[in-house]
Amino acid sequence: MRILIVEDEHRIAHSLQKGLEQERFAVDIAYTGREGYDLASTEDYDLIILDLMLPGMDGISICKELRKNKIHIPILLLTAKSQTNEKVEGLNSGADDYLTKPFSFDELLARIRALLRRKGTVVQTNISVDDLTMDVSRFEVKRGGSSISLTSKEFSLLEFLLSKQNQIVTKDQIIQHVWNFDADILPNTVEVYIKKLRDKIDNCFPNKKQLIKTVRGFGYKLGGDE
Ligand code: CA
Repeated sequence: MRILIVEDEHRIAHSLQKGLEQERFAVDIAYTGREGYDLASTEDYDLIILDLMLPGMDGISICKELRKNKIHIPILLLTAKSQTNEKVEGLNSGADDYLTKPFSFDELLARIRALLRRKGTVVQTNISVDDLTMDVSRFEVKRGGSSISLTSKEFSLLEFLLSKQNQIVTKDQIIQHVWNFDADILPNTVEVYIKKLRDKIDNCFPNKKQLIKTVRGFGYKLGGDE
């Protein structure tokens, strides 16, 4: 799951990024409206957290422009208490929800999950394929009842593959959804992580079906028939 934060207050942006990364989202930050608009219109995000007052281009203009250009990524608008009129204007211009500053991180997370659910993005807490199960909220993965210990990155990678199970995903898609925009990730790095994950969920279970398949020339596929 990949989120863009557009917020000119560095302190807020960084604390949100830190919290969301702990929840295993990939997070990019834009500090100006223009940069936020450019990223939102060219990169593939699952959600945008958008501050209302921004240098260059304000949150409402960004909402309007994105919607005008048929970009329908869910937008959560951040507003200050005094900006009641702007809230309404924001919702009218295409934002999906708003949160008034100051807010608790838990509230933000609940709103994000609700918006992602509304959009139909997979945010189930339990996802499974064959006899592999993932409990996202507890950070647990099991295969046939045996616990598998994954690092945070391996977990995000598996979560992404599970959300796209039975579909072929390319290395580029994996990089976009599992790593941040400014992370210098090469396709080789994806191969390394796929290998680590495969060792843990497939090679440790030699008598079971291989779940991660390499689709030569395209990418990878989790689950599905042989
Ligand atoms: Ca601001």
